[in-house]
Amino acid sequence: MIDLRSDTLTLPDEAMLKTVLTAKLGDDGRLDAEGRGEDATVNRLEDLAAEMTGKEAGLLCASGSMGNQAAVLTWCRPGDVVLINERQHLDRSEKTAFDPRFGQLKKATYRHDATEQPDLASMEEALKNNPVKLLYVENSHNYSGGMCITLERMAAIRELADRYKVPVHMDGARLFNAAEYLGTTVKELAKYVDSLMFCVSKGLGAPVGSLVCGTKAFIKEAKETRKYLGGAMRQAGIIAAPAIYALEHNVARLKEDRENAQLCASLLKDLKKTRVQPVVQTNIMMVDTAGSGVTPAEFCDRAKAKGLFIRPIIGTWVRLVFYKGITRDDAVKAAEIIRAVDAEL
Ligand SMILES: *Cc1c(COP(=O)(O)O)cnc(C)c1O
Repeated sequence: MIDLRSDTLTLPDEAMLKTVLTAKLGDDGRLDAEGRGEDATVNRLEDLAAEMTGKEAGLLCASGSMGNQAAVLTWCRPGDVVLINERQHLDRSEKTAFDPRFGQLKKATYRHDATEQPDLASMEEALKNNPVKLLYVENSHNYSGGMCITLERMAAIRELADRYKVPVHMDGARLFNAAEYLGTTVKELAKYVDSLMFCVSKGLGAPVGSLVCGTKAFIKEAKETRKYLGGAMRQAGIIAAPAIYALEHNVARLKEDRENAQLCASLLKDLKKTRVQPVVQTNIMMVDTAGSGVTPAEFCDRAKAKGLFIRPIIGTWVRLVFYKGITRDDAVKAAEIIRAVDAEL
């Protein structure tokens, strides 16, 4: 079975697991005067994340969802308005920020244009008409099939946010994939935002963890918010050590995942009843089942019967995600299976 449900399926290899045995551990929940915990490995990871993103400080969170909540609930108080795109993970999947039982935030929305870049006019209209407290971008953008916001657009968003005096948070769960596609660094992309979150547990291949980065003052506050969320951990060096390994060894290979996704898409340009997203930029590729006569779930069942495990993602779309452990050969076979399912519709 070729399993392309998500890049969260990556498993730690032996070299990564070995880092746990020699990691210097301590109680990360016990803070010194500076607000740093006692786990040296967590501190090393947080410093590495800060350095790689060009921010002053980093904060290890148990998940990307926790990282985004810690950031958003540090910027905002109940009733505050967050300006989002309606297909962002924060709203579609995490939900906590806007839930009346939890974050109690309000949303204003902006559109993406046909090339999946945040539409500036739509953003400005929302900024004009709402008391926006935080502007939220997602790069790469999961529900559009891993599309990336360019450096030029990031710069324009920054300029707009400054004019309206609104901070910007970036959900960069797959920021390293975005930087790889755009031919830039995460540091360059991070330059235009006040805070960001990236995951080490997806394409980077670590088992657990996400990092929030920002100014020292912001991270100090976010650490308190993380504690409210139940996110203060103890010997978290156990998860920080594989994360450091991931950042040191698994960034350059993200190119392979993009190439496999693009190869798979290139083999499926002339499907009969379904269609592949027009442009594939990172490790995600989506197929639209609209008008094919089967539901996305049925399409996935048929693919599974032929040896390809995939899942519906949004609307009529199903998603294929390429990651460490999935080969070029798997990408070719996945395309053959999609083609065979399509031919039978
Ligand atoms: C996966 C993901 C998250 C959340 O990460 P978890 O570790 O699954 O909580 C946030 N944003 C985006 C865009 C994601 O793809």
